[in-house]
Amino acid sequence: MSEIYKQVAIEFTVHSIEPIRKYNDPSNPDDWLDIAKAKDFIEADEMMSTHYNTGGVEIYFVREIEGTTTGFNYSPNSRAAGLVIEAGINSRTISHELGHTSGLKDIYEKTSDDLDNPIATLDDSLVKEQWLPYDWNNGPPPAYYKIDLKQKELLKRLIMYGYTDEQKSDLSFGKVYGWNTSYVEGFIKTGLLDLGKREPHHW
Ligand SMILES: [Zn+2]
Repeated sequence: MSEIYKQVAIEFTVHSIEPIRKYNDPSNPDDWLDIAKAKDFIEADEMMSTHYNTGGVEIYFVREIEGTTTGFNYSPNSRAAGLVIEAGINSRTISHELGHTSGLKDIYEKTSDDLDNPIATLDDSLVKEQWLPYDWNNGPPPAYYKIDLKQKELLKRLIMYGYTDEQKSDLSFGKVYGWNTSYVEGFIKTGLLDLGKREPHHW
């Protein structure tokens, strides 16, 4: 995670670690370890409301989040803000969620959770300056991007890529062209220039 955020000169340190559970009842030690989907993840909402105004970002590590979700967050302006992260998840997911706390957005190139059978995908256009205006190497060769690199492949390198991908790690310099959470095409906040909060915190 530190390696990823070095790209934008941000450093995170652990302030404290605290085990929490839902009820102060020793017979229910597993409460909040498994987060149910019910009522739009109301359990996660409750859990994230236990701490606020801490001066930092609260990350709630759980055993399982029901469904395919492996981590999520709520808007930084909410008292219920914080991150929930499922066990076994790598630093890329945590880094992605921290990106959200700093104002960055998901970027996608296809529309389905079934990635082998997407409903629609970005076309096969190659990367071009108009789609990466702040991240384009217009200097002398060698070029920064391989000549046959497609935009929809490049998106997978970004830490704000919305799906799990083993190669995602880049924070861009500026906005990058892709799809947003609603699968609308446009320029997405995925990098340094869009870090609205360089010291993210919840209150
Ligand atoms: Zn996301």
